[in-house]
Amino acid sequence: MNSYQLGIWIRKLIEEDKLYQFYKSEEWLVLKKEVMKEQHYECQECLKEGILTTRCDEQEDTKKKLTVHHIQYVKNYPELALSKFYYYKKIKYRNLIVVCFDCHNKLHKRFNYKVYHKKQLNQERW
Ligand SMILES: [Zn+2]
Ligand SMILES: [Zn+2]
Repeated sequence: MNSYQLGIWIRKLIEEDKLYQFYKSEEWLVLKKEVMKEQHYECQECLKEGILTTRCDEQEDTKKKLTVHHIQYVKNYPELALSKFYYYKKIKYRNLIVVCFDCHNKLHKRFNYKVYHKKQLNQERW
């Protein structure tokens, strides 16, 4: 599957609200494992902060708390869903990073903050 076909497939899944099928696909699972290994099962966000607490000693328990995050969101850039890197102005960036559960939540909340906040306000009003 090339990236063009990948884009078509994922857009269709999004439309049908079945994006979970991508996360269950063989291609993604293999890639995810690879990225985890390459990045030594360490949360890249915690690493930035100099925190090594989430470093995985390869115990199943810790592994479960780690996941691979798309810098370029799958929903926005489905063609990049299986790419480890992307290019912006001819500079190569990592597209896939290992993150722990907490950092992953933070990454997504930061992005959804406005929507999330709005919802909260509305709920309060009611
Ligand atoms: Zn982390
Ligand atoms: Zn993510």
